[in-house]
Amino acid sequence: MERLSKIFKKVKYSVVSSLYPHTCGACGAVVETEGETLCEECRYSLDYIPLDVDLTPLAREMTHVQLAYFMPLLSYRKSNIESRFVLNIKNSGIQRYGIEAGRMMGRMIKARVDAGEFDCVVPVPITSKRQEMRGYNQSELLATGIEMETGIPVRTDLLVNEGKVVSNSIEAKRHKSSTANKYLATDIVKEFCGRHILVVDDVITTGKTIRECSAAIMEKCDNNVKVSIAVVGMVSDLLGIYNDQNTIYTKNIFDD
Ligand SMILES: [Zn+2]
Repeated sequence: MERLSKIFKKVKYSVVSSLYPHTCGACGAVVETEGETLCEECRYSLDYIPLDVDLTPLAREMTHVQLAYFMPLLSYRKSNIESRFVLNIKNSGIQRYGIEAGRMMGRMIKARVDAGEFDCVVPVPITSKRQEMRGYNQSELLATGIEMETGIPVRTDLLVNEGKVVSNSIEAKRHKSSTANKYLATDIVKEFCGRHILVVDDVITTGKTIRECSAAIMEKCDNNVKVSIAVVGMVSDLLGIYNDQNTIYTKNIFDD
């Protein structure tokens, strides 16, 4: 039954996206131009994190990793347009949302730092099971968009996720399924020792994913490597003080 509803959900997404191929990724309104990702209104009203706000110290504190830069694009709250955009990047099945968000990130990165500093952009991997279920890895779409804007080459062979999709826990019952992620760096990372790797994810919630991915890379290089992070969104409360409720909400809906 659960499986059936999952299949139905998938079919529904693809039917909706083929019936309404030109809808805004945030508010769902029909956009005028074919291929447009966000409507005018959303594009200008999204809660972009100001470029003069440097959240790198906060991210270092959250992850306990000496990140070179931490660069988030948007802040969001429960049910606002930013959070719907991030969810649609992951779950709508419409891949141009992720590519476009990646391009927005690419422009943000260029505005913050010299993009020439980075030697490659690495998407946070999802498990092969999850990739099979979803049909794509949203972080890879983001990385592709970043490459289009900045020219930093995407590398999907440096990190792997050997986690398992679990379907038999309380967590899983609530979410239909959830993933116990296990991030590992491959030996190919050694080519990038002494260089600068930009890791990309959709959101930062507890910092756990960022910590594990960064640590895996750094370990392969005996800490002789720079790691930076770019994400689409972070909970707005993280900008000020930690708010447990909001973090838990985010952790639940953005799991995996
Ligand atoms: Zn809109």
